[in-house]
Amino acid sequence: MLPERTEAVLAAVLACPVCSGDLRHHSTSVTCVQCSAVFKLHGHIPVFLKEPVTIPPENHRSNPIGAEFETILREGKDFVLHIGAGVSAQRYPNCIEFERRPFRHTDVIGDAHSLPFRAGSFDRVFAFNVFEHLAEPQKAAAEILRVLKPGGSVAIHSAFLQAVHEAPHHYFNATEFGLRKWFSSFEVERCHVSGNFAPGMMLAYLMSSVINTAKEGGAALDNVMRLRNTTLGEWADLWAGTGHHPGGFEILQSLPQSAQSKIAAGFELVARKR
Ligand SMILES: [Zn+2]
Repeated sequence: MLPERTEAVLAAVLACPVCSGDLRHHSTSVTCVQCSAVFKLHGHIPVFLKEPVTIPPENHRSNPIGAEFETILREGKDFVLHIGAGVSAQRYPNCIEFERRPFRHTDVIGDAHSLPFRAGSFDRVFAFNVFEHLAEPQKAAAEILRVLKPGGSVAIHSAFLQAVHEAPHHYFNATEFGLRKWFSSFEVERCHVSGNFAPGMMLAYLMSSVINTAKEGGAALDNVMRLRNTTLGEWADLWAGTGHHPGGFEILQSLPQSAQSKIAAGFELVARKR
C-alpha cells in the first residue's frame, strides 16, 4: 500500500485527463464527475490509458536519475511529478511516480501527452529518458507547463546520439536546439550535456550498440571480432576519404534492414499523396 500521505496528496491533484473534471474514487474504478469517463484500477493504481496495461519484465532496469535530482526528492521540500520513473530506487512521500506500466513504486499509470493532474499542482516535474519516446513531445511539454505551479521547474534527460531502444516507441533524437524548441514556452535555465551523456558515454553506447546489432543481425563471429578490433582512427580516416574500409565495414553495410535501422545515420522516406 501507499504511505497514507501520498494517497491523500495524490487524490488532491488527480483530475480527469479528458476534461480536467473532478474524479471520484471507487473500490474498482475512478470516474469523472464531469464527463462520466471511467478509469480502471491496476491493483491500487489508477490507470488513465486507452489501451490495456502491459506488465514490464521483472529484470527491467532504470538508469539512476543523478545525485542532484535524487537529493531534491530526498529533501522532500518540493512536490514532484516524476514522469517515467521506472524502477525507482526508493519511494519518496512528496513525489508522484507516473508511468505507462506498473513498476515497484508507480502511483499513476497514464500517457504523458494528457496528464491526469490539475493545473498548477507541482513544484517540479522530472522526465528522464522519456521525451525521445513521445510521439508528440511538444504536446507533453505543454502538459508539463500546465501542471506546474507558477515558477515551478522541469528537468529532463533526452537522447541525442543514441541507438534505437524500446522500439517502436522511440521517435526523436533531439539536438539541443530541438530540446529548446520543445520547451520554448519555458524560461530555459540551462541545456547542457550532463555527465551521463558526455561524449565518452556516447561512444560507449554506440559502439556497444553497433557490435550487438551486428551479432543480432547474423554477422559471423569472426567478422564481429574484425569489427571489434578496428580503431576509432580507421573509421575517422574512412570519412576523411582515404578509401580504406576498416574490418567489418562491408558486414555493417550488408546487415538486414531490421538491424541497420537501429544504428543507421539516417533514413530515406518516400511517400505518396493519398
Ligand atoms: Zn472528464
